[in-house]
Amino acid sequence: MKEKKRIVLLGSTGSIGTQTLDVMERYPDRFEAAALTCGRNIALFREQLAKYRPAFAVCERKSDADMLAAEFPGIGFSWGEEGLIRAASGDWSDKASGSVKPADLVVNALMGMRGLAPTYAAIQADMEIALANKETLVAGGNVIMKAAADKGIEILPIDSEHSAIFQCLTGNRDKKISRILLTASGGPFRGWTRDQLESVTPEMALKHPNWTMGRKITIDSASMMNKGLEMIEARWLFDVPMDKITVLVHPQSIVHSAVEFEDTSVLAQLGIPDMRVPISVALGYPDRLALELPKLDLFSLKNGLTFEEPDPGVFQCLAIAKDAAARGGNRPVIMNAANEILVEAFLEKKVGFLDIPRIIIEMIEKLGSDDEPDLAAIFESDALARAKTTEMI
Ligand code: MG
Repeated sequence: MKEKKRIVLLGSTGSIGTQTLDVMERYPDRFEAAALTCGRNIALFREQLAKYRPAFAVCERKSDADMLAAEFPGIGFSWGEEGLIRAASGDWSDKASGSVKPADLVVNALMGMRGLAPTYAAIQADMEIALANKETLVAGGNVIMKAAADKGIEILPIDSEHSAIFQCLTGNRDKKISRILLTASGGPFRGWTRDQLESVTPEMALKHPNWTMGRKITIDSASMMNKGLEMIEARWLFDVPMDKITVLVHPQSIVHSAVEFEDTSVLAQLGIPDMRVPISVALGYPDRLALELPKLDLFSLKNGLTFEEPDPGVFQCLAIAKDAAARGGNRPVIMNAANEILVEAFLEKKVGFLDIPRIIIEMIEKLGSDDEPDLAAIFESDALARAKTTEMI
């Protein structure tokens, strides 16, 4: 029998985190939770610790880690950024007992820029990586892909579109890609005008038609910044220039993305919109795991499968992302940082929906530079863009 894959799950109480545990639970003889990390959802984290009994656990705050350490004496605890780095690099086992790695695969389901340093640490520690944190590649794509290549580590995508592309490319890696066709649901405001977007509230933006996701990504989907981030994510994961990535609005969310090859063949991956599918592809790779989920019934698709071009005048964030990535330097870092701050401010009703693209453009123009940043410079640009964006709000 195969040995169990020991998993470090960063962000276990979030949307991807809980769905990852759902997939793992279906295969108790294949997977075990080696380490779990959470933010501030301590009630759910306590349940997870009791159920999965990882060797190591991390909370955002020291007070939470201390409290849980008293309740779970068999588990090692840490907190904050340092805790995440230790979890991602498997740095918690008793060194005296030998140098055997205590984990095999890091699932990075953290939200936002916080995911970058742990991803880098996981690569340095020779971990397999399943990546749901797209900001890691948006801000640090150059550095991360180079580090992964140096270590011979393949990054397994958990984002549904990138999992689709990954699946289409399996067995086709050496063939020439002529285009990546990245599908987008279009979010709750598909077909709206710019004027209509002016008065969008957080409640309206949080209603996604097809996917159940965390709050940040749901707002990003409504502004289509999510697709902009995903274009950059695809550019790095699959080493394709930005002008070979085409976004298609596909409101049914059945075709999760496609690849067009130079012989004009197009391979697409289809399925129900359920994140447990891409999660299981990454966890089980190179095997496919059976999942007891509703199957895709093509006969029941009353509206067929439709595709349209996104309206660039309405969804400005797409063009912003394309331009930031094409001009390069620290611009994608600034774009991502400003967006994170603005989404938070929008949810708190401190800025309007269209202030998001407006202020991002201003920040890129103000702080953008052509120098290709290393990891330290990425964090510097990120911090500066956050401070300046907060100031402007
Ligand atoms: Mg996606």
